[in-house]
Amino acid sequence: MKQDIFSDIKAFAFDIDGVFTDGSILAMPDGDLLRTFNTKDCFAVRMAVDAGYPVAIITGGCSNSLIFRAQSLGVRKEDLYQMSKDKETDFLLFCRRHGLKAENVAFAGDDLPDIPAIKAAGLGVCPADAVPEVKEAADFISPFNGGRGCIRHLIESVLKEAGNWAFDPHTPWTGNYPEEIMKLGLTTGKHLK
Ligand SMILES: [Mg+2]
Repeated sequence: MKQDIFSDIKAFAFDIDGVFTDGSILAMPDGDLLRTFNTKDCFAVRMAVDAGYPVAIITGGCSNSLIFRAQSLGVRKEDLYQMSKDKETDFLLFCRRHGLKAENVAFAGDDLPDIPAIKAAGLGVCPADAVPEVKEAADFISPFNGGRGCIRHLIESVLKEAGNWAFDPHTPWTGNYPEEIMKLGLTTGKHLK
């Protein structure tokens, strides 16, 4: 696979279950659904947001903890699409909202509902453990499984290709983090000033 498949990507859209996570869900008595996120994947999302790349989450799921997690990574409220059944339409809406052509946006998904968006995206990506139909539709099959580095690998590849993969400890986070997250940070860490 040529590495320059990453060179024209200006934004990212991700399915959650099986991509951001290994697909496991812990169903809580209050109805919330808990998921385990990979911090290396999540750090890459923050790197992308802070480098100015729009990031969307397009999921058939819905939970309060998911909203909080997405916002804490810098994903804008309007770029979080929950209970999405028609992911292609939501993907194209995300592209339009940011004035981007679909050919310049990557979408990563792992199961049948993701296939239309994978085909619509300029770079359709799936984790190594995606279902066979998704692997068939994807432009790029990550060497990593869902929740085990596929997001990190994709974002890192795109940002490195563009010369944007650099962490500066002295530069404040620039993402559109919600106020409650910033307040929390200010009480616990000077780096968020
Ligand atoms: Mg999924």
